Amino acid sequence: MKAIQIHQFGGPEVLELHELPIPTPGPGQVLVKVRAAGVNPYETYMRAGTYAIKPTLPFTPGSDAAGVVEAVAADVTKVKPGDRVYTATTVTGSYAEYTLALESAVHPLPADTSFVQGAGLWVPCGTAFTALRHHAQARPGETVLVHGASGGVGIAAIQFARAMGLQVFGTASSPKGLDLVREEGAHRVFDHSRPDHGEEILRATGGRGVDVVLEMLANVNLAMDLKLLAMDGRVIIIGNRGEIAINPRDLMARRASAKGFTLWAATAAETGEIHAAMAAGLENGTLRPIVSKELPLKDAPQAHKDIMAPGASGKIVLVP
Ligand code: NAP
Repeated sequence: MKAIQIHQFGGPEVLELHELPIPTPGPGQVLVKVRAAGVNPYETYMRAGTYAIKPTLPFTPGSDAAGVVEAVAADVTKVKPGDRVYTATTVTGSYAEYTLALESAVHPLPADTSFVQGAGLWVPCGTAFTALRHHAQARPGETVLVHGASGGVGIAAIQFARAMGLQVFGTASSPKGLDLVREEGAHRVFDHSRPDHGEEILRATGGRGVDVVLEMLANVNLAMDLKLLAMDGRVIIIGNRGEIAINPRDLMARRASAKGFTLWAATAAETGEIHAAMAAGLENGTLRPIVSKELPLKDAPQAHKDIMAPGASGKIVLVP
């Protein structure tokens, strides 16, 4: 099979296309023929060797795939060959024509969800749901600011938040991104490349502030986010790429909190709820993964450049 492999940590050019043997499922494992693989920012950090988890070289990146079950180990009962599925983490990496995943990480893909949409489920949509439900504990009627709403996590957060009955604000930096965030459910959109967008957001709440911020770039925005909060407000840190100084008094004055999390640390109960919520969202149409770019496997280096560039408008996926 063709697969991307990383033999040394470095820039996008270390993503090389190789010919590898098709893996065989061991106990509890499922072999999936990959029809689409999701590209997520953390895979660029892992490629560079700067992520908290440093895999043993060489490795194939990627946790999100959608495809068809090719083979299963004798003890697997949840899926069978021919089933349409998506993965939530893999054993051998998803940037490949075939991937191995544990039975527990393989989930049914609804018939009317395409493979490229399925490749954008676990990391982006799972993160958006757990941020809103488990970490922010957002309630209907509250106001949420999705700070960075035009990418994979942000679009899903807008859709979930709207379905949960929140007042939804979203930001982007390009006209296309702003239009998409509005179309996908934001009541108000703001341009985060404008230095005064925080004041605009505060004005839009009549000076009260927002109840929840889902933050995609905390090292740039956290100090501002704290000043945008209403009483008992919560900032949920989803993305961060560096350090920032904050004034703790901004939290004290609002009885507010800032909380970070990683999707990898979700408990088994939370993981079950995330998959149930995604299945319901796909079924009732409130969760609609948006794919902005489909690239062949060999263009993984380009995908890694694109995902770090401004002007997001949904997910980037690799199609083997
Ligand atoms: P993505 O598809 O690349 O989208 C990035 C988003 O960040 C876009 O909406 C982009 O907007 C926005 N952005 C860029 N500059 C910004 C700024 N100055 N202020 C606010 N937003 C800004 O990435 P993603 O998949 O949505 O992931 C977003 C972040 O969350 C990444 O840092 C990722 O590593 C992290 N993440 C964390 C977890 C976790 O478990 N904690 C899970 C998934 C993702 P424009 O392009 O319109 O400027």
